[in-house]
This record gives sequence, structure tokens and C-alpha cells, in this order.
Amino acid sequence: NLRSMFEQTVAKYPEKEGLVDSRLGIRWTYHQWDLEVNQLANALREAGVEKGDKVSTVLFNTAEFATTLFACMKIGAIFNPINFRLSSKEIEFIINDAEPKVVMFEKATSEQMKPLIKDPAVMQFWSIDEHDLANVLNYYEQMDQVSNRRPDCNLDEDDIYALMYTSGTTGMPKGVIHTHRDMMDQALIMAACLRLTNEDRGLSVAPMFHCAELHCAFFPRVLIGSTTVVLHHFEAAKVIETVREEHVTTFFAAPTMWNMMIQENFNKEDFQTLRQGLYGGAPMAPALTTRLHDVLGIQLIQAYGMTEMGPAITTLSEEDQVTKAGSAGRSLLNHEVRVVRTREGWPSEPEDICKPGELGEIIVRGPSMMPGYYNRPGDSHEALFKGWYHSGDIGTYDEDGFLWVRDRLKDMIISGGENIYSREVEDLLFEHPGVLDAAVVGEPDETWGETVTAYIVKKDESLDEKILDEFCASSDSLARYKRPRRYEFVEELPRNASGKLQKFKLRERSASVLE
Ligand code: AMP
Ligand code: MG
Repeated sequence: NLRSMFEQTVAKYPEKEGLVDSRLGIRWTYHQWDLEVNQLANALREAGVEKGDKVSTVLFNTAEFATTLFACMKIGAIFNPINFRLSSKEIEFIINDAEPKVVMFEKATSEQMKPLIKDPAVMQFWSIDEHDLANVLNYYEQMDQVSNRRPDCNLDEDDIYALMYTSGTTGMPKGVIHTHRDMMDQALIMAACLRLTNEDRGLSVAPMFHCAELHCAFFPRVLIGSTTVVLHHFEAAKVIETVREEHVTTFFAAPTMWNMMIQENFNKEDFQTLRQGLYGGAPMAPALTTRLHDVLGIQLIQAYGMTEMGPAITTLSEEDQVTKAGSAGRSLLNHEVRVVRTREGWPSEPEDICKPGELGEIIVRGPSMMPGYYNRPGDSHEALFKGWYHSGDIGTYDEDGFLWVRDRLKDMIISGGENIYSREVEDLLFEHPGVLDAAVVGEPDETWGETVTAYIVKKDESLDEKILDEFCASSDSLARYKRPRRYEFVEELPRNASGKLQKFKLRERSASVLE
């Protein structure tokens, strides 16, 4: 289980630097980190948290996050990391659904948290900072005077380790259940895939509440005995500075973060110690991958997946970055990934497999698949139809066995009866040097059903609709009906904390413009 993963590393490398959080001046060896974890575990137990109870966090990347996570494991509590960017209402929905005994939060989230604070007899709220809120306990005070001896607890590999709520861009968020064994499996596969060693120094800059950072980057490092440096939140210049100062060798960032770092004009010298860069969680335009590859000259690895799968199911390795730019690569060890034909109103049939080049729904099964959603048997049954997780992503396999993710089924645009996958339009727009960020959505149209609208963040002020339309028209890769009918220039695109475009917000915006 994941607790023994942590404890074995502690036993093997007690004096090795395990966790660095420079905001707090923390530099813990694995041994020191373990003592903190034990102490918090005992404090949670004293506060009434028992095996199977939940502990929620609304934290940025902090030492307290990394400590709470393992403290939960020590006493068999279920860890429930919540996105710190959610609104008060959204957080309320999650804590009502998960019913944690304790909720950890920090000052930066107190606006959202304030209305949710309850009587400590019902639910305890612990703040990691100084505060003046009534009914809130202090994390460090709770730990004070508490023993740091290892608490006893029977833990089975099938026990639930975490509840992770999906972004829920439509409908309400659903709690994905992951067990210890599932995530051990993901950690092992990713550690092998990244060829991590205990000499590696990794940076956690993508949000740790999301499984891409937590399971694909952080856990593999703990498993191998590498060092983790946590950065509270993303800031391009700060990442570059930290890589230099902390001799970082590997880190994961969302495509939009890499895009922002490129704008900082960093060069190879800034990233001298870096041997590897990971990206994923959202599509990265091939034009951007190529630029990154050329500028950095480091090993790039892409991961594709979803919370329900732990998340990674395929990776695109260093060797294939240029020749297969834009592809999501090949399936991970022990994971089966298929593209199958979709059926209107019914889950896709796992045996109805598409031919290479044919588009269909991506489905997958493997050892890190969730057993289901928390308290949602109906949704679980549908999502795991016939034992395969149905991703809701549209993609295709090419002749070489590489997977290409084209769009979310829900984001696909249908114009004049023809399907348009937003990524092919977005990928082309990214090729224009004046474009910093791009998203396309379908807009209702009386004649065509839907037409394409492009939202653009400019890099170059002189960029306008005419230039982009001519650029699309002159490309032989984009059919006429796929060309955007309308362009809107915006300061920034709505993205969630893990870098995913929130297209529903753009659609709402289009609708209000048209009214
Ligand atoms: P989440 O469960 O929040 O991680 O969201 C999973 C979704 O993110 C997937 O179903 C994809 O639509 C998208 N996604 C994740 N990784 C990639 C990737 N490497 N390329 C394209 N889309 C991705
Ligand atoms: Mg499993």
C-alpha cells in the first residue's frame, strides 16, 4: 500500500532531503518528514478521525498538503483533496457529499471557506495559517504536544486511499474512488516510465490536488526516494528561478504553463539541471510541443489520462515528440486502450472496435481504474460499462499504433451535418506566430446548426480577424466548413487550475453575445 511505500523510502533514505517548501523555510529529510506525518496522524486521531473517515484539504502546494496526505494513510483515513479554485458553493457541494471529519484550508482560500465553517462538533476546520475566524482550529496548535510515534493501523491494499472530485464541467462533481493498490500501480508504472532515480529532484508546481501531479509525478518520486520541492502556485518566472536554485531535474506542468514559460524567453541555460519535462492533462498544440522541444532540448514526456484512471493511460515518449507531435502516444504497461464506435444515447460497445484512422470513443481498462464513483451507482455503472472506463473523449489510432485525442465528445461541433473536432482548428491557430492561446467552440446557427467561433489571446497586437482568416484559408489542412466564422479577441481564456479549457464558459459567453 501507499503507506508502506512512504515508510520504506523513509527507512532506506532517512537522511535524504525529502521535502522542500521554501515559503516556510522547510527542508525536511525523509526521517523528519515522517515524524511530522506521524505527529499529524496522531493529532487527527485525537480529534476523532478514525479509519475510513475522510479528511478534506483546500490547500495549494504546501508542506502541509504533502504531510496531511501521508498522515491520512497512517491512520487509514480517506484523503479528499479539493481544488482551491472552486467557488464556495462548489466546495460546499463536495464537503456535503464526502462528509469529512476535518477540513484543512489556508488563508488564500478563506473567502470561499468562511461561509462553510460549521460547529466543530459537526465538522472541524483547521487553518494552516494565523487567522481570526471563529470556530477554526490551528493546524500547528493541534499538533503541538502530540506524540510523533508511528500510529498503529491495519491497512489493506484494497482500502480506499482517496476521493478525488472530477472537474464537473457539466453537472455536479463526482467523487472518484481510488484504492491503495490502484495508485501503487500507477506510481510504479510512472516511476519506470520517467526512469526516476533517487538522485532526481522534482518540482511540484502543477496543483497537487489533481491526480496528474500527485500520482504521475509526486508519488513516483516518493517511491524512488527522490526529493520534492513544492511551489505554492504557478508563476512562470518563479518556476525558472526555482529550477535553477534547487537544481530541479524533472517536473510536470500543464500545457498552458509551458506556454507561459516560453513567453518568459527562458533558454537552455536556465534549465541546465533539468533532464526531463512532463506535460499533459489537456491537449498541447503540436506547434507548441515543437517550440518547446527546440528551445529546451530536454526530454519531453506527455501523459494522457483522466482522474477515473488514476490518471495516466498513455504516454508519448521523448523519441516520438517530433515525429508524432500532437499524438497522445501509446498505452502504459498493463493498460488496454481502445477506440470504439459511439452509439447515440447508449454507452459505446467495447467490442465494436474502430479501424485505424476511424474516429470513435476512447475506452480503457487497467489496474489503476477506479472501482466507481462515491455514492453514485448509476453513474458508475454507465461510466464502467462492461468493465471499460468510457472516457467521453474522441480519438483514433494511426497505422503505427499511436493514439490521437481529437476532442471531448461534448465539445465536438456539428456544422451542416459535418463533425468538426475543435482541436484540429485550435492546433492550426497555434501555428500562427501572433497567437498566444486559442479555443474554438460551436455557436448555434439557424442554417448550419452550429458554426465555429474562435477565441484568441494575442501575442502580437496587430493580429486581427482578417489575418487569421487568410491564414486558415491558405492552410491545406483545414476544410472550408471548419474555418471559424467569427473571432473574438480576449485577454485570457477560462481555464481551470489544471489547465483545462472551460468551454462551457465560452459557450455561455457566445450565447449572451448573440442575444
Ligand atoms: P481530468 O479527469 O480532470 O484529469 O480530465 C480528463 C480529461 O482531460 C480527459 O478525458 C481529456 O479530455 C483531457 N486530457 C487529459 N490529458 C490529455 C492529453 N495529454 N491530451 C489531450 N487531452 C487530455
Ligand atoms: Mg484496480
